[in-house]
Amino acid sequence: MARVLVVGAGLTGSLCAALLRRQTSGPLYLAVWDKAEDSGGRMTTASSPHNPQCTADLGAQYITCTPHYAKTHQSFYDELLAHDILRPLTSPIEGMVMKEGDCNFVASQGISSVIKHYLKESGAEVYFRHCVTQINLRNDKWEVSKQTGSPEQFDLIVLTMPVPQILQLQGDITNLISKCQRQQLEAVSYSARYALGLFYEAGTKIDVPWAGLYITGNPCIRFISIDNKKRNIESSEIGPSLVIHTTVPFGVTYLEHSIEDVQELIFQQLENILPGLPQPIATKCQKWRHSQVPSAGVILGYGKSPWMTAIGFIW
Ligand SMILES: Cc1cc2nc3c(=O)[nH]c(=O)nc-3n(C[C@H](O)[C@H](O)[C@H](O)COP(=O)(O)OP(=O)(O)OC[C@H]3O[C@@H](n4cnc5c(N)ncnc54)[C@H](O)[C@@H]3O)c2cc1C
Repeated sequence: MARVLVVGAGLTGSLCAALLRRQTSGPLYLAVWDKAEDSGGRMTTASSPHNPQCTADLGAQYITCTPHYAKTHQSFYDELLAHDILRPLTSPIEGMVMKEGDCNFVASQGISSVIKHYLKESGAEVYFRHCVTQINLRNDKWEVSKQTGSPEQFDLIVLTMPVPQILQLQGDITNLISKCQRQQLEAVSYSARYALGLFYEAGTKIDVPWAGLYITGNPCIRFISIDNKKRNIESSEIGPSLVIHTTVPFGVTYLEHSIEDVQELIFQQLENILPGLPQPIATKCQKWRHSQVPSAGVILGYGKSPWMTAIGFIW
């Protein structure tokens, strides 16, 4: 039986796993490994420790479908809409720049529900806390080493992590990438940001006329979302959640600072923008070292669509 490993349980990894399963007729052992503790990658949804139903999308906020992708990726959108995983974004996002013909979707159960859907469909064995460190060739098989535990062998590996993390891998894989490819890959740059999720008690009112707000001119905060309002799931039984994304310059400046210090700085700026905000009952501050690609290189299938961003296949 062919043994296939997908590294990364984000959108690209989960969708690759689902497509591999759909398109393979013979027996297939499919595994997905991720170094994180849960699936989602940059499409993660965090939960309040007090109520798992009080959630916040800390990475991707909504999915923009351009007229081009509405055609070429129609089956993906149809499937996610039919399963009620995606819904059209109907709540007001102030300052959002919309191009003609574009349409935005949100995931009512949190953006990571898209990934969970594909992982389930793939039937793959999903392992968390599996951080791949080395890939070597042994007797015509790829031997994959992780930070802890024994190495395992596969016939095919699909790498879906951000490019800098692919370039950190050790072993024979380093010889597979030509000098020219390496130069091109090293040229792919990512922005860095912080995201802060704030979780509130049920019944807390956050009295603003928008569900999302893009901010210009603040050195620290670029975007605020009342996340449950953005996803149209406001309820008297579940507290609201807020998501704050920092500006890229702030993310770059404070990249190596402690999460506690960064969280404090974000709170100080938030008080200027939304004075008198109630006290949250829980917080989650997330550093995105590799957030988004401002200019995408066309390497190893690097595209602008959220579906399939960076994929390297190793046979
Ligand atoms: C703050 C923010 C806001 C965004 N907003 C939007 C938006 O509104 N709309 C939109 O479409 N997109 C948005 N994006 C971009 C979108 O989230 C990404 O394009 C998409 O999630 C990328 O998915 P991926 O699977 O390719 O990569 P990732 O989600 O990064 O998945 C890669 C996975 O690989 C794992 N990994 C890395 N190294 C290893 C290793 N050595 N071993 C094992 N596992 C490893 C990681 O833990 C991760 O889970 C945003 C991103 C961020 C960070």
